[in-house]
Amino acid sequence: MVFTISVAGIIIRILAGFFRPGKNKRVKRMRKTRYNDYRWKEILRGSQLGVYPLRLVWILLLTLTGLSLGCSPKPPDISTCTRIEVRYTRGALIHFIPDTAGQNSLLSKEEKRYIKSFDTWTVTDQQLIKAFMYDVSQGTYHHNVRGTNTPGGVQVTCYRGSKRVASFMVYSMSITTEDKNVFMYSPGMPDLAILAPPGVKPLEARWKCALNLSKLLFEGLAHRPGRLYPDPNQWCDVIVEYLRSRNVSYTYLKDTPEYLRSDASIARMFACPSIHVSTVVSDARANLAKQKVLIWRSDYAMNPNCEPNSPPDTVLLFETKPGWNQHGGPELFTFDNHDPKGGCVLLNDGTLKFIRTKEELQQLRWK
Ligand SMILES: [Zn+2]
Repeated sequence: MVFTISVAGIIIRILAGFFRPGKNKRVKRMRKTRYNDYRWKEILRGSQLGVYPLRLVWILLLTLTGLSLGCSPKPPDISTCTRIEVRYTRGALIHFIPDTAGQNSLLSKEEKRYIKSFDTWTVTDQQLIKAFMYDVSQGTYHHNVRGTNTPGGVQVTCYRGSKRVASFMVYSMSITTEDKNVFMYSPGMPDLAILAPPGVKPLEARWKCALNLSKLLFEGLAHRPGRLYPDPNQWCDVIVEYLRSRNVSYTYLKDTPEYLRSDASIARMFACPSIHVSTVVSDARANLAKQKVLIWRSDYAMNPNCEPNSPPDTVLLFETKPGWNQHGGPELFTFDNHDPKGGCVLLNDGTLKFIRTKEELQQLRWK
């Protein structure tokens, strides 16, 4: 604080010296009069000209900015932390699979119980703690909030041995400390995926895989003219072109169109997250990564026998080996994309299922 004020004082002096009139008649007069009298007259004269007030406001703004930067609270220092306790305040199940229909159709009772067992858990992996520590340190002070914390956050408590170092609530792109200071972050930070229980990740990937099928239907296929499904030979191309056309923006500053949704984010809709693990930890960061070179492949196939007016339980999309515009029946289905083994299926009415056995596969309606 003292240092900041000193620096601000030096800046004011330098600026005052810089702006003080130099080689003109006023300086000559200044030598002949008492300094204080001169300053007041000059300020008044400057005011009439509208010059000095601007300079003074400018100097004041610089000083205040310097002071505010120097005094802003810093994100919690967890550099000495060796253990992190994570508590999902809404429960781990709703945190990782935020849809009750999805929980019931994709997970067994045992799997739901397993995820629930991580409502509170402890991270001791030092590399993961370092990665999270870096994320937390990147925050910028935003404001001090009053009252209770916003619901839905994840409580993170850091320890060094048995000593509690810091505790704060983590939200999407912000944290709130115990002092109620709010720090803001860029998208995807701080990345809670770093602290996710490893055993839960395959089940979360299953949910995200099913979510891909849902997006392909509701963001792509369902918007076809006349609500007809596209030619099965081109179904992937048709969805890509449709999504590109919906997310394009032309501005008067640029001749070329600007894609609001990157090709990378469209390509990810065709990729099973269980087998194509992103190098970027979180989805938010992955969406920001605008790759120039893409591999267009689809881990999903279409059932050509399914039309919009087919029975609601007819299979529409399902998991298969990588390809593009693949279409066919259960012979293309694969159980190998996921661990535990199985594959996701989307029915004509949007219902999602996770198929674990050949018997279950045969029971589905394909025509
Ligand atoms: Zn999958």
